Amino acid sequence: MGKTNACLTIPRITAQDRSALSRSGDFLPFHKHLTLDEQRRQASRCMDCGVPFCHAGRILNGMATGCPLGNLIPEFNDLLYRGAYRQALMRLLLTNPLPEFTGRVCPAPCEQGCMRAFPHENLSKHPLINTPVKCMEAITIRENELTLVEMGFENGWIAPIDAAPNGKSAAVIGAGPAGLACAIRLREYGYSVDIYEKADKPGGLLMYGIPHMKLEKQAIDRRVKWMERSGIKFHLSHEVRGLSELGRKYDAVVVCVGSGQPRDLSVSGRSLKGIEFAVDYLTESTKSVLAGAEPSVTAKGKDVVILGGGDTGNDCVATAIRQGAKSVTQLEIMKRPPDERLPGNPWPEWARTLKTDYGQQEAEARFGADPRIYEAATREFVGDEAVSQVVADVAGVQKTYPAQLVLLAMGFVGVSSGLAESLGVQTTERGAIQTDGYRTSMDGVYACGDARRGQSLVVWAVREGCECAKAAAGRP
Ligand SMILES: Cc1cc2nc3c(=O)[nH]c(=O)nc-3n(C[C@H](O)[C@H](O)[C@H](O)COP(=O)(O)OP(=O)(O)OC[C@H]3O[C@@H](n4cnc5c(N)ncnc54)[C@H](O)[C@@H]3O)c2cc1C
Ligand code: SF4
Repeated sequence: MGKTNACLTIPRITAQDRSALSRSGDFLPFHKHLTLDEQRRQASRCMDCGVPFCHAGRILNGMATGCPLGNLIPEFNDLLYRGAYRQALMRLLLTNPLPEFTGRVCPAPCEQGCMRAFPHENLSKHPLINTPVKCMEAITIRENELTLVEMGFENGWIAPIDAAPNGKSAAVIGAGPAGLACAIRLREYGYSVDIYEKADKPGGLLMYGIPHMKLEKQAIDRRVKWMERSGIKFHLSHEVRGLSELGRKYDAVVVCVGSGQPRDLSVSGRSLKGIEFAVDYLTESTKSVLAGAEPSVTAKGKDVVILGGGDTGNDCVATAIRQGAKSVTQLEIMKRPPDERLPGNPWPEWARTLKTDYGQQEAEARFGADPRIYEAATREFVGDEAVSQVVADVAGVQKTYPAQLVLLAMGFVGVSSGLAESLGVQTTERGAIQTDGYRTSMDGVYACGDARRGQSLVVWAVREGCECAKAAAGRP
């Protein structure tokens, strides 16, 4: 285990991001890193608990807690603390083929399940524990992970895959995190792997959903080059519309096309100009940032209203501010979450509490207020040709917001319209690809990631990609 007593003597410290005001003026990455010495001190806080909840991803009360990948967290924390960096990295890579992405964008359900996240003020109310404990702040698991993988790339410890060919071939359709993880594992098993991706760059939502300042795209390019050196072939700008289009017969085909059908809102005025789906807007923004060009749709000088208070909406807030929006408002249909855990939501469940993400912090710094308005149901878009106002019921009161750009960030309702049918696989009522385990209704065809489980997280996509590769290869 880490350092004896460190859990009681060393406080949790995370890397300070660039300040909200300064970072909101550019698209440069805002994450900073601790020094290696400080990161080791942080790792030393890990108590190597007898029953560590952090590394066992479980669904409790409908939400994940603990790492869905089963990362060997106490082990890599201890090795990091002891300075055995390479061994720590190897432990991490056993379960997570893409830690540079989870290390940057994972909401870290592991840290929610960490023993050290037990809210001590509620301790006396917990049915199982009645001993007072000090210093209740989770270990910095995600930053420990990121430190290890970045050290691995810097020092050339992450060697390309050199598996002996097993004479079998696989096609992976979609190069999001599920497809990338699946391709890596299949290649490790000896398959020759082709990835087909309809976009001009691999990465899926890592590339064109999550903005550059949160996940710098060089990290994706670096991993893709490593995959190419490992013998995996990418076929970009290649949209697969039917399995017969693949041009050759594969031993296994894995469908990882994501959950690309955005939820729409059919209210009066929906057809007005200036109302965009969030991912289309974010994609255009990232393409323009990478090309150093002006985006064709921009928030510059506009009042922007974002429908949806979740992560996608938050990315839209941050992007609109960087493009020079005049004002940003985020309408959320749900109630404002509580600041503290409610009694019905005890540790180690995912805490259903208010989280103020980076975009909302930036809006506060720029405009002096949190952009979120809760219990807001949009009733109408108003305008002549283009939208000029959004009318919403806010906790029973009708309100009007000026808006020359409206972004719909209300989630997704399954794989892109018509895609499952053209691929010949069956879907569930929720529009996801139906599977038994990871097998679809078609022989030799598998599915994983958001396409199978519905809109989710990068960490789940990676887990599904790994498990699906095992299923496709007939491994236990
Ligand atoms: C704006 C936004 C921000 C997010 N932020 C976070 C975050 O911070 N942290 C987090 O954990 N999760 C986040 N998520 C969720 C996360 O990105 C997804 O859960 C994850 O990317 C799903 O991975 P996937 O591989 O299943 O699908 P995707 O990432 O959607 O990849 C699917 C790929 O398939 C390709 N494709 C589709 N159809 C075809 C076809 N016919 N032929 C060839 N290719 C095709 C697509 O172009 C795409 O590249 C975010 C999601 C969004 C929308
Ligand atoms: S992948 Fe996510 S949940 Fe797993 S250890 Fe890393 S940050 Fe935690």
